[in-house]
Amino acid sequence: MSVRVVARIRPLLSKEMDKDIIVHAGSTDDGKPSTLVRIPSPKNEAEEFTFAFNSVYDMSTTQEELFTAEVAPHLKSLFQGLDVTIFAYGVTGTGKTHTMRGGLKLAERGVIPRLLSGVYRRAKKIAKDSNGETTVSVALSYYEIYNDKVFDLFEPPEIRTPSGLPLREAYGKTVVVGLSERPCEDLKDFERLYIEANNNRVTAATKLNAHSSRSHAILRVKVTQTTENQTLESIASAIDLAGSEDNRRTDNGKERLVESAAINKSLFVLSQCIDAISRGDRRIPFRESKMTRILSLGQNNGITIMILNLAPIRSYHLDTLSSLNVSSRAKRIEVREIENEIVYKQVPRTNTGSSSTSMIRQPLR
Ligand code: ADP
Ligand code: MG
Repeated sequence: MSVRVVARIRPLLSKEMDKDIIVHAGSTDDGKPSTLVRIPSPKNEAEEFTFAFNSVYDMSTTQEELFTAEVAPHLKSLFQGLDVTIFAYGVTGTGKTHTMRGGLKLAERGVIPRLLSGVYRRAKKIAKDSNGETTVSVALSYYEIYNDKVFDLFEPPEIRTPSGLPLREAYGKTVVVGLSERPCEDLKDFERLYIEANNNRVTAATKLNAHSSRSHAILRVKVTQTTENQTLESIASAIDLAGSEDNRRTDNGKERLVESAAINKSLFVLSQCIDAISRGDRRIPFRESKMTRILSLGQNNGITIMILNLAPIRSYHLDTLSSLNVSSRAKRIEVREIENEIVYKQVPRTNTGSSSTSMIRQPLR
């Protein structure tokens, strides 16, 4: 199991053009690719905090560049039978949905449509290269986790059971009982299913007088390769997480408190799992939340990529710092490349007691 944690700073939106940019990408040496995020201390803006990641993408990064660098290299592994899991983490308004789903224009398409497109391209090639002996089929499941309850996004919201779908353990894996799976022949098929399901998500949230930013949306792409006497199944999961901001700050309603507790708990467990995987721990606390349980995070032989989305402006300052603190723990992962395979080497933990943040204090020159 390997994990990469990368950060992406979004550009200013047109309504933000007069705002100061306070979040910057940086590198350890001039000319080296960015691996640092720099942000001023909220107490003393002359002081700067630095957070380290496997990679940092600045405002100018295109959808294609991000996909090519972080996702495309793992398509091969997916077809070799490894599971690939991609998370977008961050405060609401920082670009999670833009990163995962993206816009309708070709250049604006996000990780998910590009992933599917890559899967179909490779599937065609495999069928061709094997003279049709290997067939590849793709099936989708799409669900959301709201208040720690699982809802199928392929089902219209009217027929939802309020308690959500139950989980069950089967052969050491967690399955969502009753979750539907749709065969998906090609990109056209995908787009139709995906748009329909996203509409369901918005309708369901509206009915609850909630917002879709308060649920985790999980797309599961099952790739099955079949030959005469063998099948190989692997799963790519793409997750648009709930906003990591603390909703209690903005709204004190009872509903919001329940939501907030559920969101914070699952995001906390997720960060603990990422932390444990990056340390090479044998015990990953994936059972502590539904999301990490369903994904069997850390139990599969697979690849996990967490993309931390960041907004560059001051109005997000405190939330940005807290999301940086949660996700930059994986700084201790050192990446070494051998041929085409990426090997993640474990760097021993320095004895810094229980504070596991990787913040480096630096005076601003
Ligand atoms: P989130 O899903 O984290 O709440 P969104 O993806 O909805 O955030 O992004 C918030 C706004 O910023 C949207 O209008 C989106 O189009 C825009 N945006 C985010 N990232 C980018 C980017 N890299 N380039 C251009 N616009 C972006
Ligand atoms: Mg969103």
